[in-house]
Amino acid sequence: MQPFDHTPHYVTNLADGTVKQINPFSGTEVWTVPGRGNRPLGIETADPRRLDESAKGAYCAFCEKRYVETPPEKSRVVRRGDGSFETLYRLPAERLFDTVAEFRRIPNLFEILSYDYWHKNYGYELPARVAERRQDYLASQAGLAHVLSVIDMKLRASGRSQEQIDALSVEEKVAAASGFFGGSHDVVVARRHFLDGATHEDQVASSGTLTPDEHAEFIRYTVECTRALYDLNRYARYVAVFQNWLKPAGASFDHLHKQLVAIDERGVQHETTLERLRRNPNIFNEGAANYASYKNLVIAENDHALMFAGFGHRYPTIEVYSKSEHSDPWDQSPDEIRAMSDLLHAAHAATGSSVPCNEEWHYRPIDVDLAMPWRVMVKWRVSTLAGFEGATRVYVNTIGPEGVRDRVVDKLFRLRDEGLISANMRIAFEAECRPNPLRYNRVAR
Ligand SMILES: [Zn+2]
Repeated sequence: MQPFDHTPHYVTNLADGTVKQINPFSGTEVWTVPGRGNRPLGIETADPRRLDESAKGAYCAFCEKRYVETPPEKSRVVRRGDGSFETLYRLPAERLFDTVAEFRRIPNLFEILSYDYWHKNYGYELPARVAERRQDYLASQAGLAHVLSVIDMKLRASGRSQEQIDALSVEEKVAAASGFFGGSHDVVVARRHFLDGATHEDQVASSGTLTPDEHAEFIRYTVECTRALYDLNRYARYVAVFQNWLKPAGASFDHLHKQLVAIDERGVQHETTLERLRRNPNIFNEGAANYASYKNLVIAENDHALMFAGFGHRYPTIEVYSKSEHSDPWDQSPDEIRAMSDLLHAAHAATGSSVPCNEEWHYRPIDVDLAMPWRVMVKWRVSTLAGFEGATRVYVNTIGPEGVRDRVVDKLFRLRDEGLISANMRIAFEAECRPNPLRYNRVAR
C-alpha cells in the first residue's frame, strides 16, 4: 500500500496471482486463487436427448399448453399483430388459451410467505378489487374447476392423501385459495421453454437468448409487477426480485422465470448497506462504479447504465448499475429501464445458457429515505470450497474480477457483431468511465 493513499483497497492483486477482495457494502472477504478458473463454466451435456415433438408446448407446468396447472394468473403480456406488446389483466378462465402469453404473472403455488402469514401476523385482508376478482373467477364453472384442481395438486404435493383431500368440502378448498388471489409471491414466466426450432433438450431458452426487445419487455413488466406487489400489500417493506437459472442455481424448472417475494423486513444485506450509505452518500460511486473504473473492471456502458465485473462476491459476478437519479425502478423513464435491460441482457447472453446463475435485483426498500441506485447482479454458480469457508469465513472464488471481465468482454464484441445484443453500448475501452457516473444522489449533493 502506498503512503497518502486513502482509497480503500477492495481488490488487492498479490504477486503470485491471488486476488483478495472485500465487498464494499457487506464486508464479505473473498480470495481468488490462481489456476482454478480456467475450466469451462457451463454444464456440458455429452449426449443431449432429442426433444419429444409430441410434448411441444407442454414440457413443464410453465409451458403454454399447461396454463391450468398454475394458479390463476394476475396478468399477461401478449404480442399484437404489429409486433408490439400489450398487457392483459384479469383474464377469466375461459379465455386463458385465446392468446399465447409472452410473459405471465402468476402466484407461486408454494409461497415463501403465505397469505396466512400476512393475514395472521398483520391482519392483512384481500383489497376490495382483489376480493372482487376472486369472486368473479370462481363464479364461472371453468374458473372454479381450475382453482379446485390446482388446490388438489397443492394438497397432494404437501403430502395429503387423496382420501383426506376428497373429505374437504368445496368451501374448505376455496377458502385455501385466497393466497392465489391475494398472495405476495409471484412468478413472472417467459413463453419459451426451448428455443424456437430446438431439436435437443440442451437448447433451453434463457434470458440471453431472448431478443433485446423481448428482454426489455421482460424487465419493464417485472418492474411493473414489483410495484404491483407493494400496491397489493401495504405491510411489505421489500419485494425481493430474483431469477434462478438451472437446477444448480436453485431453479425447480428449466423454464425461464423470475420470482417476486414481498417480505416484512429489508433484509440483512440492505441494513448493512444502509449503514454505510448513511456515512457516505456517494458510496455507490466510490465503492462500486468509480472503483471498478479505476481498476479497469468496466465491461460496458450505455447512456443510463453501467456494467462491470464485481468484487467481494462469493460467486463470480457481473454487476449492472442504473445511472438514473431515480432510486425506484418504476419512477425511471422507459429509456432508462431499457438501458438497464440492454446491459443485463448482454450479461446473460455473454454468460451463456448452460451456466447456472442467479440474477438478483437490489434497489431502495419502500420505507427508506436515502437515495440509492437500482442494481442487478448476475452470479455464476460455479463450485466453491465449502469446508475452508466454514472454518475461516473467507470465501474462495474460482474466477477473479479480471477473469470475469475478460470472458464477458470477449463474448460481447462477438455478440454485438452478430446482432444478438443491443448495438447501443460501449464495450470495455470504448466506455468513457467518467467519475461519479451514478446520478442517484445528485439532488443530495
Ligand atoms: Zn416449460
